[in-house]
Amino acid sequence: MGDSANGLINRPILASIHTAAFQHNLNRVRELAPESKIWSVIKARAYGHCFDAALKGLASTDGFALLDIQDAAWLRQHGWKGRILLLEGFFHENELSLAQELACDLVVHCEAQVEWLERFKAKNHKPFNVFLKMNTGMNRLGFKPDNYRTAFHRLHAAGYHMHHMTHFANADQIDQSPTVGAQQELFNQTIEGLEGSTSLANSAAILWHRNALGDWVRPGIMLYGASPTGLHADIKHANLQAVMQLHSEIIDIQDLQKGDRIGYGGRYEATAAMRVGIVACGYADGYPRHAKDGTPVWVAQGNEGVVCPLVGRVSMDMLAIDLRKAPNARIGTAVQLWGDKVPVDDVAQMSDTIGYELLCAVAPRVPVAIK
Ligand SMILES: *Cc1c(COP(=O)(O)O)cnc(C)c1O
Repeated sequence: MGDSANGLINRPILASIHTAAFQHNLNRVRELAPESKIWSVIKARAYGHCFDAALKGLASTDGFALLDIQDAAWLRQHGWKGRILLLEGFFHENELSLAQELACDLVVHCEAQVEWLERFKAKNHKPFNVFLKMNTGMNRLGFKPDNYRTAFHRLHAAGYHMHHMTHFANADQIDQSPTVGAQQELFNQTIEGLEGSTSLANSAAILWHRNALGDWVRPGIMLYGASPTGLHADIKHANLQAVMQLHSEIIDIQDLQKGDRIGYGGRYEATAAMRVGIVACGYADGYPRHAKDGTPVWVAQGNEGVVCPLVGRVSMDMLAIDLRKAPNARIGTAVQLWGDKVPVDDVAQMSDTIGYELLCAVAPRVPVAIK
């Protein structure tokens, strides 16, 4: 396709990552949490956006929070000198030397980690910054309040620099979340009288529970321009920008008669004569196979573009769209699967999931362009 909209020479699919949108969203976090420092959460390859793009777009963050120490090593190799928080700490004792070399801060959430750190300190290493994780009701990671103070005092006695952390289970309840209040209260009671900074808020709390921020906020999904609830309507007025745009092109056009069926299983039956565009994007690219008929797909038309409905089951490498609203569409016409024209959450909603899952699931075979 010589006149490829993407300028590609291969299969016409591309995830473009817009670093200006990253910066914009990070600035929004600063506006919403002006008193807090920011751990930009970039687990899962920066929610599928790739670390290179995150490092470029989020360079003015106070720190990056992630899971895998190899990714921390990558950040250091690529010049990141700021703070790095390992969100689940370390999985095995033998990671501690590397974590120290890389100057990572550690989340500590269980007794075994406390023991490993006591042994590590006993060998006269430099102390880590430790964010001790309290389980205030999420019941995933962390110390119950009863054991929290004991763990705190043990690590404090071993010479570590101690901080406090918890994670909300229901901060995506927008207007009011009794559990956020209850978790926060338990957290505050438990750390009473203990030194150290605090970290509580994920994106949902930053957007909707600003009395629960703490010294360090931990935004993830809002940095990528998607909604903590999975519903785009909930962030429509939050002034966030989609960072990823998933682009492809129409690679074939079929003229259907009333009654013709499309794709595997013939799920969609044409109710009238229609042109159908075949788009080079399927579930092997990370597009959800469960997307229902009517899932929005943006198609270029002049300078504007229109949203056309998906029709029929998504297959491995392709999907089909009803082109009745896009009479000028032809082979090579640009399509956006999600991004600034179609919120990823709108696509997710049509396949009973949330934008988080779609962003993280963009497949390695999709080329990435950092803009
Ligand atoms: C993933 C994660 C976050 C970010 O959550 P978002 O909902 O994406 O803002 C914050 N804190 C912890 C501990 C996490 O695991």
